[in-house]
Amino acid sequence: MTTDTATKTRFTLKPLPYDYTALAPEISEETLRYHHDKHAAGYVAKLNELLPDTPYESLPLEDIILKSDGVIYNNAAQVWNHDFYFGALSPNPQSEPKGALKKAIESKFGSFDEFKKKFSAETTALFGSGYVWLVEERSGELSLFSGRNADNPLRYGYRPLLCVDVWEHAYYIDYRNARADAVAAIWNCIDWRVVEKRYEKE
Ligand code: MN
Repeated sequence: MTTDTATKTRFTLKPLPYDYTALAPEISEETLRYHHDKHAAGYVAKLNELLPDTPYESLPLEDIILKSDGVIYNNAAQVWNHDFYFGALSPNPQSEPKGALKKAIESKFGSFDEFKKKFSAETTALFGSGYVWLVEERSGELSLFSGRNADNPLRYGYRPLLCVDVWEHAYYIDYRNARADAVAAIWNCIDWRVVEKRYEKE
């Protein structure tokens, strides 16, 4: 049965904050068009289709992530994860963290280079699809979090600061099976200004 609520669009995908060609050669226009306009948009459409007449239909996205399970959780988390992922990339990135975030990274990982090595190692160790995240634990300590499939750190009480999408759809057009090469390249696109803002916002 079709009702007004069933056809209402609740969530929309944020447009990319840069041109589709802006992240090449690290991430090609073709990858961005598929990743944003097909994959990410598909999760938004699916979530909007699933929500009507559920207990989650009028909740904010983060509450749906915290409270739902199964297919609604998977699609809600994918909507959130993709906005967060695309939002930290830039054609003119600040290439390293500064200030309080730099200090917190050095205190936890030894150095920014060591952090990148450990983060990259997590991305190759993650079996199958998922994301690797830099998160802040409740104690204030920074940590790496490897999430399978759509899994989102909010669910574990962590505050997400950065994620790298290592689903094959994120890199297969440009790098084929070479996930490590895709991750090595994406460091050139991560804007630490964005990550600092997330870290400073309480
Ligand atoms: Mn993706």
